[in-house]
Amino acid sequence: MDFEKLVQVYEELEKTASGNKIREVLAEFFKQVPKDDVQIVAYLTLGKIASDYEDVVLGMAEKSVLKAITVASGQESSKVNKLMQKSGDVGLTAEEVMKNKPRTLVPLGKLTIHELFEKLHKMASSSGAGSQDLKTNLLAGLLQKSSATGAKYITRIALGTLRMGVGDMTVLDALAIAYTGDKSNKDVLEQAYNICPDIGIIAETLAKKGLNEVKKVDVYVGRPIKMMLGQRVKSLEEAQKKIPGEVTVEAKYDGERIQAHKNNKGKVTLFSRRLDNITKQFPDLVKHLEKAIQEKDYIVEGEIIAVDKKGVPQPFQVLMQRRRKNDIEAYIEKIPINFKVFDLLYLNGKSWMDQPYFKRSKELGKMIKKDSEVMLTERILTDNVEEINVFFHKMLNKGYEGIFIKSRAEDSVYQAGVRGWNWIKWKKEYVKEMVDTFDLVIVGAFYGKGRRSGNYGALLCATYNKKQDQFETFCKLGTGLTDETLEELPKMLKKYTLDKKPVRLNAKKEMEADVWFEPAIVVEVFGAEITKSPFHTCASGLALRFPRFIRFRDDKDAEQATTSKEIEQMFEK
Ligand code: ATP
Repeated sequence: MDFEKLVQVYEELEKTASGNKIREVLAEFFKQVPKDDVQIVAYLTLGKIASDYEDVVLGMAEKSVLKAITVASGQESSKVNKLMQKSGDVGLTAEEVMKNKPRTLVPLGKLTIHELFEKLHKMASSSGAGSQDLKTNLLAGLLQKSSATGAKYITRIALGTLRMGVGDMTVLDALAIAYTGDKSNKDVLEQAYNICPDIGIIAETLAKKGLNEVKKVDVYVGRPIKMMLGQRVKSLEEAQKKIPGEVTVEAKYDGERIQAHKNNKGKVTLFSRRLDNITKQFPDLVKHLEKAIQEKDYIVEGEIIAVDKKGVPQPFQVLMQRRRKNDIEAYIEKIPINFKVFDLLYLNGKSWMDQPYFKRSKELGKMIKKDSEVMLTERILTDNVEEINVFFHKMLNKGYEGIFIKSRAEDSVYQAGVRGWNWIKWKKEYVKEMVDTFDLVIVGAFYGKGRRSGNYGALLCATYNKKQDQFETFCKLGTGLTDETLEELPKMLKKYTLDKKPVRLNAKKEMEADVWFEPAIVVEVFGAEITKSPFHTCASGLALRFPRFIRFRDDKDAEQATTSKEIEQMFEK
């Protein structure tokens, strides 16, 4: 397929201000895409060339992209830089420059999406000496083969800033409409997507083999599975009502969730909560796993925690220092880790996700060698609320966050990507009669006054409405932001700045921000109370009173923010 066809769709999406319209435009487009191109188109509509877990990093530096524009257009670099300064947008600069390039430079034939995709992959995979030049030249070649408008989008893809307001769920919606004619089939696609979070594979399977084959999409070692999550309750008695009988009660550690995969060739891969491949960050965990579990292949899940030299657990802030790209070896020495394992999803060629929790736990216990840095989570089995409470306080004394109460019933299967009632969390905040913290997406900012003038004074934060695939405003956040955070914010958010309200954001006119952002950055926020509000759109009018910033949640993406439904449930309670 010609890239220009996709360019027309990008143009239409860019003009669109409603989430529903975006779905319609995409669905209509998918109907026309040849089956062999569907996979590529699915990635490119998201501005990507692979799924996040594949660790294919394109994100070129602005400087290199500007150089490519200069090479492709045959213009003076000073002219290109001047235009860039004027527009502040690389994409617009590319369009403008390519529109006015000398007539002697005729386009070098037509650019197909296959060629674009292949060259972008080549750029992503080149490394080492000379790779910068290679990338710039490849990009320049692509720009020469496309229209000026096409150049606008190619440069944005190369920078990783194509912001069309399209999310994974938007593409699944569009695919359901295009290939099954029935929007409700999105649920089937989403279920498959929870086990195989790769939009390209889902799109291609649906287009080429149909919905029934999508239903059969299975676990694949080395490809992450969306993680199972737990519900909240108001009291331990309520937890007992929700999961009657004997339960497993485990320590709830405040560390980092990891899904560890080992394939039958012995390769270990680690995935984060947002399903990024973070194997390079934790080479020590790979070694610990190789020592502790000797099975042929497996997928296990647990929480990494930092420990001191004596093995005593350390707070979350200590572990955070391990989130780094440099000095990894030094920090392995400085901040050792333990891996507290709690689930088994796959073992020796077979999925274990449909097994009840007590079976998965039992097998997991058998798999792990003693005296290693990998161990089962601390736990008790009980049906007694008092015992649960005693265990909870013991865990708090150890410095942990609380407990997880987990069902052992026959139906306590691993529910990929689901926040279900098979797991219930109970944290110290709940006991102090405080509201839980919320993970909210930054969607806008208001300029500050007084001491904060020239900087952002408050952030507009939103929850995610999963059903509607839209973001809904919940609070204006100004408290708890230190001077350093305020300085950091504009740099951090620059990449996500939009010139209009995000397409998937539902906001009232009273919440018209000074600057809008593509929903991407998640912050953890503490609040005093959830109240009704005519100004916010969360669950048709709920707001958080006295919100206070706690920290950035780099381990979550926008769609993993607290959902509007969760807020509604908390409010009802
Ligand atoms: P969530 O991960 O549920 O979206 P969150 O990251 O804000 O939310 P909480 O809701 O407070 O965290 O707790 C869930 C997280 O607790 C899990 O994702 C996991 O990282 C961590 N955790 C710690 N101990 C356990 C355990 N024993 N079983 C399951 N999860 C645990």
